[in-house]
Amino acid sequence: MKRFLTLDDVELTGRTVLVRSDLNVPLDDGEVGDDFRIRMALGTIDRLRASGARVVVCSHLGRPTGVDPALSLAPVAERMSELAGYPVTHVAGTVGEAAIKAVNLASAGDVILLENTRFEQGETENDPTLADRFAGLCDLFVQDAFGSVHRAHASTVGVAERVKSVAGPLLVSEVESLSRFLGDTERPYVVILGGAKISDKLAVVKSLLPRTDTMLIGGGMCFTLMKADGLDVGSSLVEDDMLDEVGELLVGADGHKLRLPSDIIAADRFAEDARHRIVSAGDIPDGWMGLDIGPETVESFSRAITPAGSVFWNGPMGVFEWAAFRAGTEKVAQAVAGCAGFTAVGGGDSAAALRMLGLEDRVSHLSTGGGASLELLEGAELPGVEVLKRWVE
Ligand code: ADP
Ligand code: MG
Repeated sequence: MKRFLTLDDVELTGRTVLVRSDLNVPLDDGEVGDDFRIRMALGTIDRLRASGARVVVCSHLGRPTGVDPALSLAPVAERMSELAGYPVTHVAGTVGEAAIKAVNLASAGDVILLENTRFEQGETENDPTLADRFAGLCDLFVQDAFGSVHRAHASTVGVAERVKSVAGPLLVSEVESLSRFLGDTERPYVVILGGAKISDKLAVVKSLLPRTDTMLIGGGMCFTLMKADGLDVGSSLVEDDMLDEVGELLVGADGHKLRLPSDIIAADRFAEDARHRIVSAGDIPDGWMGLDIGPETVESFSRAITPAGSVFWNGPMGVFEWAAFRAGTEKVAQAVAGCAGFTAVGGGDSAAALRMLGLEDRVSHLSTGGGASLELLEGAELPGVEVLKRWVE
């Protein structure tokens, strides 16, 4: 049975289509910092527009708990218009009077962008009244926000229970590509994890570990693991309340698959121009902190990556935003780019690092989703994808 309908299965001409995109982009001083997600979302929007639909786009941005003008989608609409070459009209409301009026006034081929879905009370609780209002805006819903389908919100699940819904092309390509990590994954299957916090990713590490052959861990999260392993990590990023749980991982049945750094770039403070040097893992001086993996670790991680049949990478190996702590991420990125197996990278910062290094075209799949891609890989059901099943006849 098909998992979901797609744009090929439905009539678009003359219809009012609500598209849930993932336009959750970083803002710099009120302007769009990195427009990767916008560019990825535009393919679907272009296609809907060309098919003669009235296109109503919605997305969340950041984590507001009510209306917060600093997280308005207005700058996103502006960047969308520039990139698309046609006007994308920002609406100063999500589902209220302003939105209804804008939708009613739109003609075939128009594209309007509603205000931040999280400005609405009830979005994250999947409130039925809010879901009704999203559904009331359209006669077809297109779920294209891969980065948000792991959350059961009003704009991801509630709306799709109420109005005919299909998967957008970007969502389809993400699910198809990443599904290659499920079932008969090409071996060896190597997962590389880094980034800031282990608490964000511990659940995923746990359930992903049995599926993989090797898990390479760097980034800020490796220090909680190293400390749990009895090593001295100085003032590195450590989440002390996670130590017990993390310790269990190390001694568990699959603990031998986890590979931690053997050397570290340690710095005397958290700053771009900090004094820094290479130290063995466990030899981080008092008051110093690990901000990147060391060259010996890069070597050994690369040796695991190069012959892999499939590689998934999420989370930078160090504070790659600063040149002094970029080498680990850069060299690992090069190893992934050079791997002949199926390679995918997911996560906002990981994708940004890859593009910064000019390697985005050298991986098999660059995912727009971080958390969602990890949940898909662990075999979890994605509620925003599951809900689409009900529309398959
Ligand atoms: P992604 O967005 O790809 O999922 P995360 O958001 O989890 O990645 O983590 C990215 C952040 O982690 C980056 O801003 C990076 O500077 C930070 N980071 C990486 N290594 C360290 C470290 N050793 N100490 C502190 N922060 C780190
Ligand atoms: Mg991030």
